[in-house]
Amino acid sequence: MNEVYIGLGSNLQQPEQQIRQARSVIAEQDCIVELRFSSLYSSSPMGPQDQPDYVNAVMKIATSLSAIALLRVLQGIENQQGRVRKSEQWGARTLDLDLLLFADQQIKHPDLIVPHIGLSERAFVLYPLQEIAPKDLQIPCQGALEQLIAQCALNGLEKLVS
Ligand code: ATP
Ligand code: CA
Ligand code: CA
Ligand code: CA
Repeated sequence: MNEVYIGLGSNLQQPEQQIRQARSVIAEQDCIVELRFSSLYSSSPMGPQDQPDYVNAVMKIATSLSAIALLRVLQGIENQQGRVRKSEQWGARTLDLDLLLFADQQIKHPDLIVPHIGLSERAFVLYPLQEIAPKDLQIPCQGALEQLIAQCALNGLEKLVS
């Protein structure tokens, strides 16, 4: 079993509901056990600004799936929840599931880069990740999570009251 962190995001069709639904569908999978789930956060969109704010969270799981097999499972869940892929980068979506960290592995596959590309400068990833990760978590090739957080502005990130 490998310990894995997944970033969840949504800004269409009841985002909080989309995130909760994705959490239960992920946890229901054979070969996946949920270990922790962060608070929900609200963040300003990256890229095109004419779209609603996002709801974000981070989930920690244990899985016996390979990283690629897990990516395919996550993409299947995005599709099930009505994700429409458009050419525009960072456009609005019902559900985005990013594979943030896969144990301590570095992966460079045509369809999968781990650690996830934007992780080190995205407040909406780093803050929920810090909530559920060990205090001394090291990000492969990028150093201590604590250090990355210290260098990352909140950029309008807010914890949602549950
Ligand atoms: P960003 O990746 O900057 O957060 P995005 O989530 O909007 O942007 P998507 O359109 O969801 O990007 O995904 C584009 C491609 O990224 C996918 O087809 C997938 O193969 C690839 N990808 C590479 N690494 C990862 C990863 N760690 N997790 C999820 N997808 C990844
Ligand atoms: Ca399960
Ligand atoms: Ca993303
Ligand atoms: Ca994505």
